[in-house]
Amino acid sequence: MRAIVWHEDGRVRQAADWPLPAMEDDEALVEIRAEGVCMTDIHMIRGTLDFAKPPWVLGHEMSGVIAAVGSKAKGWSVGERVVVDPVVACGSCSHCQRGKKYLCESGGELGTTYGSGGYGQYVAVKPANLYRLPDTMSFAEGAMMEPLNCTLGAVERAAAAIAGGSVIVFGPGPAGLLFMQLARAYGALRVVLVGMEEERLAAGRRLGADRTINLQAESLAEALKDEAFDVAIEASGSVQGVQDCMAYVAKGGTIVLYGLNGSDRPSIHSDRVVGKDLTIVTCISAPLLWQKGIELVRAGKVNVKDIVSHTLSFDEAAAAVNDIAANRFRPVKAMIVHAQAEEENDA
Ligand SMILES: [Zn+2]
Ligand SMILES: [Zn+2]
Repeated sequence: MRAIVWHEDGRVRQAADWPLPAMEDDEALVEIRAEGVCMTDIHMIRGTLDFAKPPWVLGHEMSGVIAAVGSKAKGWSVGERVVVDPVVACGSCSHCQRGKKYLCESGGELGTTYGSGGYGQYVAVKPANLYRLPDTMSFAEGAMMEPLNCTLGAVERAAAAIAGGSVIVFGPGPAGLLFMQLARAYGALRVVLVGMEEERLAAGRRLGADRTINLQAESLAEALKDEAFDVAIEASGSVQGVQDCMAYVAKGGTIVLYGLNGSDRPSIHSDRVVGKDLTIVTCISAPLLWQKGIELVRAGKVNVKDIVSHTLSFDEAAAAVNDIAANRFRPVKAMIVHAQAEEENDA
């Protein structure tokens, strides 16, 4: 198959004849049509997250079309449009049985820790990892269901505080842009988005933020004075973002910790969590909420399409991913769109 492969030299390159992932009898083979480029992939390429060893086919945000169905895989047929849940698990350990398969010790995530991901033309998965992609949604929207799933899981855990409350979101990347829309969909009365890049903040305003604050232009203290928020969401992946959440969450409020900042410097004062009567929630995956995410997009409550800032053809993808890893290219969200297999055969 064709694949964008991450190699030992810290670069990705196009391969025309990479081995097809093995499909078991109880699995389906999915021909990938869209694959999101996630900062997790970039951290792996840079060597700052050591989830897998190259050579490796990255990519955990994917959608596609069923290309083959194993003899023991039920409920799916060739040609159906699907969203792929990349989390693979044993299904029988205590974590799996409690609906937390992402904690399974014998599992992992396609493209990240476990097997060949969506930077390749095909992935093999069990039917339990597949969701139908409605005809009204594009493959790129389908690939956005993975980042939506993780942010939705966090929002569900903070739902009671969000409903009828005020929300501040730090970090206008894809996660932050999803969080602010989900906060709105879950009944927040006021949503403020904080960041440092005007292009991303402008996207936030188009997607429904009541107010954006550009930290290059004004300080939080100037902008917010003594305003406090029922929910403060850290989606910037910075220690400063965590500290700002602590500073601007209201007494009795909720902090959502989402971005990873790679720092082992303590950034939460536990006495202040107790003294301010705070609730802290997180989320890394929400196995039970995939269909709900699809429905939120289908119902027009969350716009994932306009978060995708750059669409890359397979032939453009390797150079673009290398540029992102080298910090020469900073798209809000890049999406690799694989050509349809038949088109290639015609060529
Ligand atoms: Zn991701
Ligand atoms: Zn398990």
